[in-house]
Amino acid sequence: MKEEIVIGLEIHIQLMTKAKMFCHCSTDYIGKEPNTNTCPVCLGLPGSLPVLNKKVLEFAIRTAVALNCRINQVSRFHRKNYFYPDLPKAYQISQYDTPLGINGYMEISLTGSKEKHRIGITRVHIEEDAGKLLHEGDITSSSYSLVDYNRCGIPLAEIVTEPDFRSPEEARIFLVKLRSIVQHLGVCDGNMEEGSMRCDANISLRDAKIGALGTKVEIKNMNSFKAVKKALQFEVNRQKKLLAEGEKIVQETKHWDESKNVTISMRSKEEAHDYRYFPEPDLLPIKVDVKMIDKIRKSLPELPEARRKRFIKNYQIPEYDAELLTSSKALGDYYEKTTSLYPNSKVLSNWIMGELMRYLNEEKIEIDKSPISPEKLVEMLKLIDEGVISGKMAKDVFEKMFKTGRDASQIVKESGITQITDENELFEVIDNVIKGNPKSVNDFNEGKEKVLNFLVGQVMRYTKGRAKPDFVFEAIKQRIKK
Ligand SMILES: [Zn+2]
Repeated sequence: MKEEIVIGLEIHIQLMTKAKMFCHCSTDYIGKEPNTNTCPVCLGLPGSLPVLNKKVLEFAIRTAVALNCRINQVSRFHRKNYFYPDLPKAYQISQYDTPLGINGYMEISLTGSKEKHRIGITRVHIEEDAGKLLHEGDITSSSYSLVDYNRCGIPLAEIVTEPDFRSPEEARIFLVKLRSIVQHLGVCDGNMEEGSMRCDANISLRDAKIGALGTKVEIKNMNSFKAVKKALQFEVNRQKKLLAEGEKIVQETKHWDESKNVTISMRSKEEAHDYRYFPEPDLLPIKVDVKMIDKIRKSLPELPEARRKRFIKNYQIPEYDAELLTSSKALGDYYEKTTSLYPNSKVLSNWIMGELMRYLNEEKIEIDKSPISPEKLVEMLKLIDEGVISGKMAKDVFEKMFKTGRDASQIVKESGITQITDENELFEVIDNVIKGNPKSVNDFNEGKEKVLNFLVGQVMRYTKGRAKPDFVFEAIKQRIKK
């Protein structure tokens, strides 16, 4: 059997409103004392009544419109009933058969490919978040758990895709793009590690010939783009192996264990009817008039796709660079700031995508918290242009800048690692090298031009890398040419 991979995603994004979804409590709860950021409404106390925060609606419509959804002019809240200690009402206010947005799409393409793949967006709906359980150690071995209701009632938008992904890599690319879109929209910060963007995936294998769908497995708890790809790949392999052995796939919900790199079974998958959805009696249906949708549509900011195209056109950088630099709003902003300070936009993208991203990833620091600001990066590049330091020295300077947050000029001044600008000093070394390598000089004059690099290398060695390689190159060539 030739199997085709079928993946669908469900993504929750935390909407960045100031107040919670149905009460006046602040959404700024991270780091707050547990259970202090609550009120009778979000604690679900008897007699309290929810009132919809209009900003939540506006942010969700913005998201749905950006994902090319049709907005339902009347949508409704439903109660999704289930008991769990982090859900004090024993139901979650969500949307069921009439979500806010439906039938959208997003186009993606694999890195380096021009081919577009359209991913269907089934729906975008709004719902409230639950609290958080804190387990002593691990959920499976903990002897007790603590509950914090501060997160109860935080507004979420849930984005559900069609099962249109054909590989884990496609799912990863989609998520990167979605995160960038919601960041550009200003509706969500997209921080997966902190849980403001969460992703669940449904995955099954389909017989490519017959086309019948296989049994699907749901995976939860993937809190980085890398984890999503790894977890999905693990699950694809697991299902393929089972099918090859003639086993059946069990419909279940699995948990991705990042430390062990395996998916672990949590429970058999529940069906929608298990939740006994019914219309929320405490809230009126949501009516959205066409004017509001139009107004939001017109006020949408530049989105990553348009920004990418503009980067290619305005900054003359390759498609690959533009794609990467627009993969997060903050990264795009950083790049644009540097381009306003320095003329060579390709040199900028090289340094940002290379050294800067490498150190940021290693230290798990977000670009907007980078110890090297756009101004500092540009100051260092100017030192290279002025010949004060070489490109090679700059890498060491850059590392020191990253680790200490200090300016390039300070670091260069204190460590004395400037390039030799005195030409006579350089000529002396060059002449010594030429004298000491008569065979290489001969070889060069017999047409072996490559030995020049060897001679330049010798000069660099004697000067401890403080000579300007292109200057040395030309100087040696001039001196030994017959
Ligand atoms: Zn509250």
